[in-house]
Amino acid sequence: MDLGQLLDDLCSFLGSDQVLSEGAALKAYDCDAYTLDKSRPQAVVFPRSTEDVQGIIRICQEHECPFTPRGAGTGLSGGALAAKGGILISTKAMTQILDVDPENGSLLAQAGAVNLNLTRAAAGHNMHFAPDPSSQSVSTLGGNIAENSGGPHTLKYGVTAQHILGLTMVGFDGGRVDLGGEVAEHPTSGWMNLVIGSEGTLGIVTEARVKLTPNPEATQTALAAFPTVRQATETVSAIIAAGVIPAALEMMDSRVMSAVRAAFGLDYPEGTGALLLVECDGSPEEALSEIQEVNSLCAERGSLSVVISDDPEQRAQLWKARKKGIGALGRIAPTLVTHDGVIPRSKLPEMLDFVIKTAHENRIIAANIFHAGDGNLHPILCFDEREPGMIAAAERAGSEIIRKCIELGGSITGEHGVGVEKIDAIKLMFSPDDIRLQEDFKSAFHQSDLCNPCKILPNQKGCVEHMRRWRGVAT
Ligand SMILES: Cc1cc2nc3c(=O)[nH]c(=O)nc-3n(C[C@H](O)[C@H](O)[C@H](O)COP(=O)(O)OP(=O)(O)OC[C@H]3O[C@@H](n4cnc5c(N)ncnc54)[C@H](O)[C@@H]3O)c2cc1C
Repeated sequence: MDLGQLLDDLCSFLGSDQVLSEGAALKAYDCDAYTLDKSRPQAVVFPRSTEDVQGIIRICQEHECPFTPRGAGTGLSGGALAAKGGILISTKAMTQILDVDPENGSLLAQAGAVNLNLTRAAAGHNMHFAPDPSSQSVSTLGGNIAENSGGPHTLKYGVTAQHILGLTMVGFDGGRVDLGGEVAEHPTSGWMNLVIGSEGTLGIVTEARVKLTPNPEATQTALAAFPTVRQATETVSAIIAAGVIPAALEMMDSRVMSAVRAAFGLDYPEGTGALLLVECDGSPEEALSEIQEVNSLCAERGSLSVVISDDPEQRAQLWKARKKGIGALGRIAPTLVTHDGVIPRSKLPEMLDFVIKTAHENRIIAANIFHAGDGNLHPILCFDEREPGMIAAAERAGSEIIRKCIELGGSITGEHGVGVEKIDAIKLMFSPDDIRLQEDFKSAFHQSDLCNPCKILPNQKGCVEHMRRWRGVAT
């Protein structure tokens, strides 16, 4: 590949202000929010339209140059890592909300639009975009689609796939593909659902029409303090078993509480070992009766206190530990690696005991802040990567946690995807025949090894060597 010629071609097609190729500036694109693997792109480009993306991909194909889509880079599995170098296609300049259609309850936006801005654009119509990853003030629609992101309100409202009506994608050869449409039942909706969650390996999404959800009439939020994680997790199962499906059911352990206490002065009753945040919505009567039921279930399982509010300001205060918890953990250690696994809800107590024990054995602090209602764990491993052996220790602990999720009948990822982080773990969960089927399915879209290579599927050409190089292992 002639890099100089490639950059010249990109600059003359896009304009040099939409191409970044200086070494120091590229450093910011070495990784996403999964920081253990790093690989620098040769350039980052900033298209403004579907046509720009088509032109970029055609130039990359001509030069046989790998390309990788990137939204805000908040991904937690290395999906936006330029695994074989090449061109990173950033959607940072594709942020337009193109249409708000309250009558049909939909909105059309470019892929780089920030999740929260979709809800802001719909707010005047008393509607919102329901998928709300905790990164929603930064992460993009394209990233949410690629990862099929969930969030605190997934339990009741579902993941991103349930809220996408149609999308435009640029395929591996620069061709434009429109999948789905303006209505839920469309002949190509099935194909569209294959793209959602494919982590940018099938093409680059440039626009999407999303479903808008009417705002609930009433919302009640409860923050319950429990002496132990076990009591809190048992309450999660009890709430669902009682037939209450809260809009959100989130848990935080004592390490998260210490961090938010130190960072924001938040305080909880003496002896609190875990917090459970429960939100119920619907009609005023429905939300009230559900939160009252939750209150009784918490009391039956030994809660130390339950604070309930329907006032927006007080509710925001109750959410504070959940919203700010991950950021506050930066006080505990300089390196945070957020894991993501799913287990059946009833196994939460056993799994959390295992996480704490495994982290401890590897000299790591594990903090837990997660979507308990979905059984979706996020153990955050806190350590200092500058200490010799600690990266290997974190990888070992992470791998043991993932193996345990599989053993308990769960999955290697709930919402953060496979990316490069779990490319080996795929083999723990799927048989060679399963993996071959997934490879065949990808071949139906393309057989190019230039489009976001070395993600999800483990047997891709040349990827083991690249990965060893990033990880500093001699080949
Ligand atoms: C503090 C924090 C909290 C988080 N909370 C949650 C949560 O509650 N739920 C959850 O699901 N995730 C969560 N995440 C993970 C992350 O925010 C989501 O995966 C998010 O959807 C990624 O969006 P992004 O724009 O940052 O995408 P990026 O990180 O830039 O990319 C993610 C993947 O999408 C691909 N991609 C990006 N744009 C496109 C496109 N236009 N077309 C095709 N592929 C594309 C990339 O190649 C990559 O594989 C969290 C992350 C952080 C840091």
